[in-house]
Amino acid sequence: MPHDTSEQHHPHSLLPSDPALRVKALETLLVKKGLIDPKSIDEIINTYENKIGPQNGARVIANAWVDANFRDALLKDATASLASLGLSGRQGEHIVAVENTKATHNMVVCTLCSCYPWPLLGIPPSWYKSDAYRARAVREPRKVLSEFGVHLPEEMNVRVWDSTAEIRYLVIPERPENTAGWSEEELIKIVSRDSMIGTALVVVPT
Ligand code: FE
Repeated sequence: MPHDTSEQHHPHSLLPSDPALRVKALETLLVKKGLIDPKSIDEIINTYENKIGPQNGARVIANAWVDANFRDALLKDATASLASLGLSGRQGEHIVAVENTKATHNMVVCTLCSCYPWPLLGIPPSWYKSDAYRARAVREPRKVLSEFGVHLPEEMNVRVWDSTAEIRYLVIPERPENTAGWSEEELIKIVSRDSMIGTALVVVPT
């Protein structure tokens, strides 16, 4: 299946040995030639660092926990539900929400590269892009989960979702039982990025 077809090249196998250095060299060259404005580059970086991040996803999850209608709509057509909240854009065109239950735990990977729901979770963490995670999440998901500190009962199913440029996944973690009566704002604070990838559970800090 194609991944990141918008890129000229597949973003992984062809990476140079020192991508950061090459990016810097390119940026310098483009600025020098007057083709780009360094301020607009800073703005893009600021957007992804500060405005687009897991706090968006956490808001969605907390909303789904307190509003059954929103949860149902999210599970039925996440892309439309998210667009209604203004959460769309690059790498968020087609999102599918999968829900953790007592019977099933969901976990997301991109085996081919690093497809990820940017508008909801920001930029993927380096481990998500690592060869080890991409290969092992599919081969031995329970072992990988245990390394993240997630120990699931044996009878629980683990479903691994392989992202592509066509479909990105959002895990709806289980709401902790001892959060009855919590406000949405309180719930947002306990939803971690990793819990929305499926490599963590949501727990109430003690
Ligand atoms: Fe990918």
